[in-house]
Amino acid sequence: MAKERIGIMGGTFNPIHLGHIAMAQAAIKAGSLDRVLFLPDGQPPHKSGIAPAEHRWRMVCAAIAPYKRMEPSRMELDRTGTTYTFDTLTALRELYPKASLFYIIGADTLMQLHTWHRWQEVLTLCTFLVCPRDDLTPGEEFRQERRRLQEMGARFVMVDMKPVDVSSTAIREALPSDEPIGHFDPAVQEYIGLTGLYGLSPRVPEADDWMPRLFADLTGRRFAHTLGVAWSARHLALVHGEDAYKAEAAALLHDCAKCLPLKDMQRIAADAKITQDRSVLESGALLHAPVGAWMAEHVYGVTDPEILSAIAAHTTGKPGMSGLDMVVNIADTIEPGRESYPLLSRIREASERSLREAMLLCLSGTVEHVEKSGRFLNTGTLQTLTWLCGHIAETGGGSETAVTNIHHAAKGG
Ligand code: ATP
Repeated sequence: MAKERIGIMGGTFNPIHLGHIAMAQAAIKAGSLDRVLFLPDGQPPHKSGIAPAEHRWRMVCAAIAPYKRMEPSRMELDRTGTTYTFDTLTALRELYPKASLFYIIGADTLMQLHTWHRWQEVLTLCTFLVCPRDDLTPGEEFRQERRRLQEMGARFVMVDMKPVDVSSTAIREALPSDEPIGHFDPAVQEYIGLTGLYGLSPRVPEADDWMPRLFADLTGRRFAHTLGVAWSARHLALVHGEDAYKAEAAALLHDCAKCLPLKDMQRIAADAKITQDRSVLESGALLHAPVGAWMAEHVYGVTDPEILSAIAAHTTGKPGMSGLDMVVNIADTIEPGRESYPLLSRIREASERSLREAMLLCLSGTVEHVEKSGRFLNTGTLQTLTWLCGHIAETGGGSETAVTNIHHAAKGG
């Protein structure tokens, strides 16, 4: 059997950015890697003033969640004392004795290798995959240093990739402006804004307390999705004059019950007398919304009825739903991490103009999806549709065609 080829992305990830992701992607290709481990360091010897380790860990997990071959590792994070790459590589060699190890670094790091603890031994423990870094395009000094290290036994492979002009430092400097930042995952930016890292004031002060539980209860992908929904919910709230704090708080907790086993959701629903509707009780895809609202109240301590309503209504909507309910429901559909499909761009466009129109399109997407998969449309969704069509007809707004199509679908036509 061929030896496994493992890439190692060590870094402070303070915070992780898309330059790191691009490096890992290019290294996977250049080194034919089976997987890349992301190892945020606990206490790096060269840096001070970094965000707490658990925050950096969660941001790394969220950022790499969409990529199949990328895995987070707590190896460096959980080690007490200063983090040394020498110890990490020694431990990884013990853990994966049959694998080939590839340490992925930026060109700037190659110039620093000679300052690392036990660096001459480090050179022999792995092959280095070296990624170009914007203004640090290898010049004579770089080539000399590379040659010197190679003569001492180092193995370097230069990775072919377009340099990505970004650094964690530049991101930390740009954060206070509150604008979207280039080469930066919105989910990670959202995490920072919610919790108030890097000197920002937290937009949802409770988020810091909620995060450990929420993160533990969700898969990496679900956690990343949740942050994306909070990002979109805030944007929509600001565009449409809804309460941005409530929108972000509701979005953050909207899927807090989603990864529970169905049996546990059903037990909570029975104990708390949440619903008698069998079609809801038998479907985790529907039941997690009202159970999530119950958990938001009883586990996370939310008391605001508008936030709880938005969580409960995020799947089927509800007749008479509020602007905030729509914001969270639509944000769930359009968050930046959603894979593209034809209706998605239309919903995104509509959401900038009118919440009701976007909501109608979201429901229309649900109708289409349910019809295609040969299932019955849930009564709650139908009731929302009927209410929304009537509401739009009465008050005006929304696209005529969309309303007609939905009426047609709602009647089972
Ligand atoms: P900071 O600005 O805080 O020093 P950073 O952006 O360099 O942070 P680190 O987490 O320290 O990020 O970097 C981990 C590794 O990724 C290092 O080897 C670094 O050289 C490399 N790296 C980071 N960003 C890039 C980039 N844009 N292009 C190439 N390499 C990069």
